[in-house]
Amino acid sequence: MLKVVISGPSGSGKGTIVKELMKYENYKLSISATTRYKRELEQEGVHYFFKTNEEFQQMIAQDQLLEYEEFCGNLYGTPKHFVDQTIAEGFDILLEIEVKGALKIKEKFNETVLIFIIPPTFTELTSRLLGRRTETEEVVNYRLARAREELKLFKQYDYIVINDDISHAVRQINTIVEAEKLRSCYQQAIVKNMLNN
Ligand code: ADP
Ligand code: 5GP
Repeated sequence: MLKVVISGPSGSGKGTIVKELMKYENYKLSISATTRYKRELEQEGVHYFFKTNEEFQQMIAQDQLLEYEEFCGNLYGTPKHFVDQTIAEGFDILLEIEVKGALKIKEKFNETVLIFIIPPTFTELTSRLLGRRTETEEVVNYRLARAREELKLFKQYDYIVINDDISHAVRQINTIVEAEKLRSCYQQAIVKNMLNN
């Protein structure tokens, strides 16, 4: 079962894509911990586990996080336990995280599939971020500046998916996951079994 990291600039459509992917039964979504404020429509334990700085620092001290990063003034981290449990149960785990955290996961688990979601243009990214109306203009500008830095790291990803049309992007991600599972390293038991009969 695969660890699939969906990352890319804020506003590129990761959340929208992940919501669609969750309609497929093979996926489970890792819920991150964050010190960010809760947006109006967000729910504790559904979108994030919302933590104070002290609580987050405690999670770090107790080695409860697989990775964590600072992003535009807030901390975000992936709880270890759920990822391990999900893989053991036979599901593919989706991690929707920013770029530095994604690269850390790849470093720890080389078999991780890194998918970079990008918008069709930078202008479109700007209008999606502004159109979402969840951040102030100042924060949007901060996120856009970060997006430019993140885009420069695209070569470190296994795949790039352009999120122009949502259903097309979702289809492409499912194709990637399906193809990854056909890698010869995951088929060894089947072939060995065949040779032994
Ligand atoms: P992220 O999770 O990467 O920050 P979101 O999923 O919140 O991004 O998407 C940012 C905004 O862009 C949202 O308002 C969303 O509805 C919109 N959006 C996402 N994908 C598309 C798309 N393919 N075409 C047009 N708008 C989109
Ligand atoms: P947002 O505030 O828009 O929900 O998220 C900001 C950024 O933090 C996004 O790029 C999102 O993917 C990333 N993020 C969410 N959870 C985690 C996490 O657990 N670890 C890391 N490294 N980034 C995360």
